[in-house]
Amino acid sequence: MANECDCKAVVDEQKVDATLDLWWRMTSQNNRRMFVGDGILYHRDEVCVHQVKHMCVPYGRPMQVMCLAHAAVVDGHLGNQKTSDRIRLNFFWSYVKHDILSYTSSCQPCKFRTRAKRTDKVPITPI
Ligand SMILES: [Zn+2]
Repeated sequence: MANECDCKAVVDEQKVDATLDLWWRMTSQNNRRMFVGDGILYHRDEVCVHQVKHMCVPYGRPMQVMCLAHAAVVDGHLGNQKTSDRIRLNFFWSYVKHDILSYTSSCQPCKFRTRAKRTDKVPITPI
């Protein structure tokens, strides 16, 4: 659970993160996708006609977000799509989709749980 100190740390990280510079400039140009709320940089998107805001994750934090979303104690290790859905509901960073796919495909517990794929060696032919 985030506390006020963590939020302040994330805000400070956002402000000094060079990878977010372009998005900060977009807010000053009144870009409709990027905006600042309570000092936090957000990305605005529309999902099923609902406006949603995603916090822009500073460099170094995506791994923490992916770990929390994917390896949760309850409903953890649910695969790429559900992890992606979970993260993209509230968070945004460059290459988010690529990073999530990379993270989930390299998860050891998921590799152990995945069924082995088998194919028939003899093709099925109609009688
Ligand atoms: Zn996993």
